[in-house]
Amino acid sequence: MNPLQQFVAELLEQEGAVVEPIEPEGLEVLAPASLQQSLRLPELARLGFGAELPADAQRVSLESDWMERLAGLLEERGRWLEWIVAVDNPAPSSPERILQHGLELLNATYRLQGVEPAWTRYLILRFRYAAVSDEKRDGILELGFNLANAATIDEMLADLLNSVEEFGSLPTPPAGVALPPLWERRRLDTILERTLPLRIRHQLEPFFKGMYRRQERDLKRLYDYHNDLRREALERLGNLGAGRELSDRQKVEQERQQLRLEAIAREYQAKVNDLRQKYAMKVTLEWIQTLELVMPVQRLEGLIKRRKGERPFTLDWNPLTRKLEQAPCEYSYTWERPREVCDEALHLVSPAAHGPCPSCGKAYCRACHPQKCPRCQRC
Ligand SMILES: [Zn+2]
Ligand SMILES: [Zn+2]
Repeated sequence: MNPLQQFVAELLEQEGAVVEPIEPEGLEVLAPASLQQSLRLPELARLGFGAELPADAQRVSLESDWMERLAGLLEERGRWLEWIVAVDNPAPSSPERILQHGLELLNATYRLQGVEPAWTRYLILRFRYAAVSDEKRDGILELGFNLANAATIDEMLADLLNSVEEFGSLPTPPAGVALPPLWERRRLDTILERTLPLRIRHQLEPFFKGMYRRQERDLKRLYDYHNDLRREALERLGNLGAGRELSDRQKVEQERQQLRLEAIAREYQAKVNDLRQKYAMKVTLEWIQTLELVMPVQRLEGLIKRRKGERPFTLDWNPLTRKLEQAPCEYSYTWERPREVCDEALHLVSPAAHGPCPSCGKAYCRACHPQKCPRCQRC
């Protein structure tokens, strides 16, 4: 069964329907009265999910109004899930090597001090975005954090979600397990405000590029067309002969061409404005789901050293994906490497968040000074 067919079959069964698969890629549904009403279905209905429909079947696809019908049926269910999995948690064989690969610091050193089994809580958020200009793109953006240290788990997220599916959830974590606390709303909001625009821009990059190309092409076409008109009008003016006494007829022609030139310039400006509106981009983002994944990890504990300063840190190695998480950029929470360490507070930040101020050129740490540059008080 395709994933949508599978999902609809399971959901309808849960809602009390009797569901039978039929060919090609369809379901036959005997629906109870409540479901008939909420999904606007007859008692006995046939649904089709593939390119070819079974006889008398309604089409259910991501583009059909079935998405709204199913959302209405689900209401708020499926928006939030806590998944607690107890998996084998063997210690990695060479944690030094793992750290060497996983933590790249440009201006500081570190020392690994130990590895301990621990439990953690990952927060995995899913958003739906839609970008609209002359065309439309939509999609799903997923991002995950380790609540123990705000590390981002981009590189293991897909793997982690796939492997965790095999495990049933425990009702509660085992007794005596210490979990990192849930974050305050404000902390999460700040992180999302900084990281989501970066991530959406990245995900939509091919779409932006295509749009810029179309816009450039249209602008050039507009320019060429109006430039030809303008040249034509100028030629006619030139043909009237500069410096010579003009006849009355020629004077009328001269005025006509001058008015024409002005009209061409006005029309060109108006058309450029129209294009600007046509290609203005609006992106909307909507939260759809949160998964709180609670599971054991191996916690690498170390010390970052920069000049005379030292700062302890932890990074978790995940036993299911056998990967180390990415040290967070404590300003932008970007997925990109590497990291630098600031002098003031030994923050871990990306080079962009530790770069020069666009006004005065002095490099500063955005985690220390999120509002503006400490030297010139701008930006
Ligand atoms: Zn500055
Ligand atoms: Zn800092």
